[in-house]
Order: sequence, then C-alpha cells, then structure tokens
Amino acid sequence: MTDLTISTTSYALLQGGITCWKYSVATKVTAIWVPGFIDNEDEECPEEGGAALLKYISELDIETMTRVRAASPWLKPNYSQTADQTYWANHCQTCDALQGDHFVYSPDGPFFPQDQAGVDQLKVMPGHGPLMASASTAQSGWMDLVKLPAGG
Ligand SMILES: [Zn+2]
Repeated sequence: MTDLTISTTSYALLQGGITCWKYSVATKVTAIWVPGFIDNEDEECPEEGGAALLKYISELDIETMTRVRAASPWLKPNYSQTADQTYWANHCQTCDALQGDHFVYSPDGPFFPQDQAGVDQLKVMPGHGPLMASASTAQSGWMDLVKLPAGG
C-alpha cells in the first residue's frame, strides 16, 4: 500500500508567469503536466484519465522530486493555511511567498489558456521517465494541446 496513487508513464513541467500577490513582482510558476494517468486510490477499481495537471501534490517519487527541484527550485513542499495541508507549492522568486494552487490554477493564472496560442506561451520542459505522485488531478481540454519539444 503506497500513498503514491497516481502513476503516469511520462510527464513534463509547464512554466508560466504570474504576479506575486504580496509585492506585485513577476515570478515564475511551474505545473506538472501528464499526458495521461492511472489513479490507483481505489485498488479494486483503478481509474484512468487523460492529459491532466497535478495539483496539491503531497508526495512525488524520488527521481521526479529530484528533477523538479533542479528545474524549478521555487516549487517545494510547504504548509498552506488556505488548503490546510502541506503540498508542493510554487513560491515567489523574490520574496519566497507561497503562491497557492487555488491562485496559480485560477482563471487569472497562467494555467488557464483559452486557445493554442495561450498554450504555446507556456514553456514545456520534458521530464525523464515515469512519475508517481500523491496528488489531485485536474483535466481540461487545453491540456491535450500541450506539445512536447521534438527530439527531447
Ligand atoms: Zn513575492
């Protein structure tokens, strides 16, 4: 029995920008995108899903964790009072304020593109290998439009 109930064959990091709520400075935020996933929370009846973002990530497998830390040091575990849980949240590169998932993934945030042009504004960094996580998944039509860089 593991808490890492979400498993995927691959993943990518999406990078966008927001304005820090604290001091109104521009800061980068990263989301973990997966092309599809299996949710094993109910072991009897695993659920399959399509392209998604992982939100409220409380745990990651070691390899993915190392890769995320290297690529996006501002994405790290922290306790969120709003969510009342500890999860991998984005932090401001200037003041280190937590940029909560409720904010980063809101319609005002970078991970709410309306069309292909909006999707193309996100920087895509392919991950290495499979991923396992304890997280929530959010699926939306635009996530099918994410293109991995060729030859990666
Ligand atoms: Zn800040």
